[in-house]
Amino acid sequence: MTQYLRTFRFLFLFAFFPFSGFAQSYGLVIHGGAGSITEDRLGEREEEYRKALTTAIEHGYNLLDKGADAVAVVAEVISILEDDPHFNAGKGAVANSEGDIFHDASIMRGSDLFAGAVASMFGPKNPITVAEAVMTKSPHVLLCGEGAELFAENQDIYFLNQEERKEYLNAVPKRKTSDKKGTVGCVVLDKNGDLAAGTSTGGTSKKLPGRIGDSPIIGAGTWADNRSCAVSATGDGEYFIRTAAASYVGQIMRLLDADIHTALEMVIGDIDDLGGQGGLIAIDKNGVVGWDFNTEGMFRAAKTSAIPLRVELYKP
Ligand code: ASP
Repeated sequence: MTQYLRTFRFLFLFAFFPFSGFAQSYGLVIHGGAGSITEDRLGEREEEYRKALTTAIEHGYNLLDKGADAVAVVAEVISILEDDPHFNAGKGAVANSEGDIFHDASIMRGSDLFAGAVASMFGPKNPITVAEAVMTKSPHVLLCGEGAELFAENQDIYFLNQEERKEYLNAVPKRKTSDKKGTVGCVVLDKNGDLAAGTSTGGTSKKLPGRIGDSPIIGAGTWADNRSCAVSATGDGEYFIRTAAASYVGQIMRLLDADIHTALEMVIGDIDDLGGQGGLIAIDKNGVVGWDFNTEGMFRAAKTSAIPLRVELYKP
């Protein structure tokens, strides 16, 4: 009987949708950190942030439109944000309590749950590129410190030259490190229906040497699973680690059959109950996008084949 039903269902689908099939939607969401982001505080800089987010997301969308795969788009978009000193990642990374800069980054592929990450690393210009190489060219998931730098060197990944190193380090005292937020993240659904997520940061400002936040921790700061969604986090990393926040969104969707908005709200609710602050962005396997945060604002943008560009900075 089940056999007949299956055959009938197949014939039904074929009769009504013979050639067109369903167009796979695609798109991406990015963030540039969450925190005390208000109109008053940003003032004239608002336009700069809007422009920076727009440039990155439009670039990513165009790549997706041409058929690029989700991981490549995440790596490319995050590299753009890392090169932009507005954000606390790559070039704009904040300093730790000793005045040193250390980068954390991670990337994950939703089709097979492969992932790569680097922590407490300084030298390679784009930390996300090293995270991607850890995923694709090593048997490991997370490399840290000198080991990550050595691995990057062996992969011929571009390192900051002397001039660029000076530029990064000289900028430290000039940065308003006290409350600088601006970790960057990107979640993507490509035309093949594959999801990917990535996150990159300088961590929390004045962190203790050796401190590692959620951004390079798979499941906490970054998560992608084709069966549910792709997620990137920003905020007080310790709380996102303790709640395994990014994978928690995916598990709620998958196991409870919840929609993306409910899942995000539940996780931010739990973080809020614990006293943590921050935000999450996500895109699900059908291209539905979402974000949630309990801070005054979050730099964020979304664009998919179903919705036009949205760039938002403050609480709605
Ligand atoms: N989550 C990052 C960390 O804890 C910081 C941030 O997103 O602002 O390292």
